[in-house]
Amino acid sequence: MSKKICRFLNPGGGEASYGLIDGASVYPVPAVQIFSSSPAPVWSSEGIALASVKLLAPVAPSKIVCVGRNYKDHAAELGNPMPDAPLLFLKPPSAVAAHGDAIELPAVSSRVEHEGELGVVIGRRARRVGDNENPLDYVLGYTCVNDVTARDLQRLDVQFTRAKSFDTFCPVGPYIVTGLDPFDLQVETRVNGETRQRGRTAAMAFSVAYLIRYISHIMTLEPGDVISTGTPAGVGPLADGDVCEVEVENVGTLSNTVRASK
Ligand code: ZN
Repeated sequence: MSKKICRFLNPGGGEASYGLIDGASVYPVPAVQIFSSSPAPVWSSEGIALASVKLLAPVAPSKIVCVGRNYKDHAAELGNPMPDAPLLFLKPPSAVAAHGDAIELPAVSSRVEHEGELGVVIGRRARRVGDNENPLDYVLGYTCVNDVTARDLQRLDVQFTRAKSFDTFCPVGPYIVTGLDPFDLQVETRVNGETRQRGRTAAMAFSVAYLIRYISHIMTLEPGDVISTGTPAGVGPLADGDVCEVEVENVGTLSNTVRASK
């Protein structure tokens, strides 16, 4: 059965808590149950109105591993060849923003762009996943990621770090959906309601399973880590006042406003 996992703050304040969403309610669940493979998370007795809580990013990752040029049409639109192996880079945990948070445009960039992507959330530690293992067994669930990028700075720098790492440049959410097959999901990005990007994960050069195994042979993937699997064609600029939405089929819609930094 598919579950919707979130992290939230109570209206009364206090610590961030994981929760399971059912209809219009959220049921708090200890993190240890979210990230244990057995038994399945147990519903706590008391639900809280979803509308009354502040949703946080659904995980607090130790790292966000991103994949560049994983869709041929996107590599082509930026004039890049397809890589022979996954092109990896990292976004720092400090870049994470929640559903509903503002993406801040840094003054140092004049071209900040959206990249809507399928996000994979790791459920248990993955280190050197073997050929006889199913990499998808390490997945907790799937979410939406906006790999916000200062395109002008990316072109100036050899490394992607500056262009990809400003605070708020990694909206994640609104929640994690479990029990999905990631092979052929639509990923769509809209700005002010207008569709800018629309692709299907079946077009990825390197599949979710391939990426997990490949990355796990480089670095240990910890529970809560996020892999952002690359963006389809149609990336474009964001401006002060825009509303940017990333929708992944059967997952949900991640919505963020955009504002110039003060
Ligand atoms: Zn990207």
